[in-house]
Amino acid sequence: MKHSNNRVGATPKPGRRYSDAVQSPYNIGRGDLVYVTTYGCQMNDHDTERMLYQLELNQFLQTQDPSEADVIIINSCSVREKPVHKVMSEIGTYRPLKAKNPKLKIGIGGCVGQQEGKNLLAKSRLLDFVFGTDTIDSLPQILQEVRDQNKRVALTSMDHRGTYEISTLIRNPKVSSFVTITKGCDNFCSFCIVPFTRGREKSRLLSELVTDVKVLVERGVKEVTLLGQNVNSYKSPDGSGGFGDLLRAICDETQIKRLRFTTSHPKDFDDDLIEILVNYREKLGDFVHLPVQSGSSQILERMNRGYTREEYLEKVNRLKNKMPHVALSTDIIVGFPGETDEDFAQTLSLIETVGYENVYAFKYSPRPFTKALKYSEQVSEVIKDKRLQEINDLQERLAPTAIEKYHGQIFPVLVEGPSRTNQNILTGRTTHNKVINFDGKMDLIGHIIPIKVIKAQQFSLRGEVV
Ligand code: SF4
Repeated sequence: MKHSNNRVGATPKPGRRYSDAVQSPYNIGRGDLVYVTTYGCQMNDHDTERMLYQLELNQFLQTQDPSEADVIIINSCSVREKPVHKVMSEIGTYRPLKAKNPKLKIGIGGCVGQQEGKNLLAKSRLLDFVFGTDTIDSLPQILQEVRDQNKRVALTSMDHRGTYEISTLIRNPKVSSFVTITKGCDNFCSFCIVPFTRGREKSRLLSELVTDVKVLVERGVKEVTLLGQNVNSYKSPDGSGGFGDLLRAICDETQIKRLRFTTSHPKDFDDDLIEILVNYREKLGDFVHLPVQSGSSQILERMNRGYTREEYLEKVNRLKNKMPHVALSTDIIVGFPGETDEDFAQTLSLIETVGYENVYAFKYSPRPFTKALKYSEQVSEVIKDKRLQEINDLQERLAPTAIEKYHGQIFPVLVEGPSRTNQNILTGRTTHNKVINFDGKMDLIGHIIPIKVIKAQQFSLRGEVV
């Protein structure tokens, strides 16, 4: 869960188009307090910011304390196991608050809201509203109906036809910020619920994205992360370019210091992108997250990933040849239906061959609507646990070699702010996306400065200002 007390920080620039909801003159909040919990990925974090931006424009204030809230929103995630059960049990914890304050309104947004829709209202009388991933901009109107007309509302329609037109809504941007470039996904990997909860893939206009980054730069942002389920397949709806063109345009036409993106799909990771990474290294850094999911071609085919083990390794080799210092990370699913000991051994060998700096491994869990749900040969939980442990053990064995090479090196580090665990030291990330902590004055925040690595650990580095 993440919370902040930020207020709306800036008005839209003159001439900027904002959604109808944001332009709306509603004063539905009347200074009441809203509490939001957020689960899942960076896209959900960013969606929460979007909700809060709009709610604050409509005169709500954010609180970090649910017991004083007038509205509670759960921005849910359905990627992992038992998501409905999780949101329902969180709602249950608010029962005493509702008993104390009958005016309290509770809602569910995000992927579980999209997936379950009005079924959720039937599951709990404590719940007042449900909205989906495509109806975030309608949240002020939903709350008006819920609060002023005492209705229970479920609004989870999805716009499959219209163009994807949103603006980047961030209240008080910090050194680093997110910009959503696409929504949805057309890939239908057989394990993934995203195409059902986020809809078909749609891209925003290239020119608008460049403008959004320029506006963020004017507001003090130094680093932008472009977000999409599969950023590589970005395509501006006016035909003005694909993902490579977008990266080039942002690097050339804006003053942004660092540009990151997530998530890349190996199938669409091409030579043009490698060329761009090389040519714009100063802004794009030396880091790529390339989710492989499995090291076995047989399993990759059952996953509908669109590449083989050999094709993936060939792309990694091409990338490493052009960028010898690149740091790679990946996602792995263990225990996908039909995964044999031999398939899993191939995953372990691929991890060793590539030499990732970070591996994010998860146990397969069946998701509604997906093809893999119907696959026979489901793998037992005992075997999934065992394989997950084996991957963690392997990473622990490989990590020291992967990290130790940084010892003594000097990196240009964008100083992001005080460390989360120790407010007296500063934190930032190297060009390899490694978190590095160091002593320094707070006025260094927002600057790129040379930092020498004096201690290398698996999850973070310790450094000193050179
Ligand atoms: S590429 Fe596959 S895993 Fe990623 S969001 Fe699309 S369907 Fe899901």
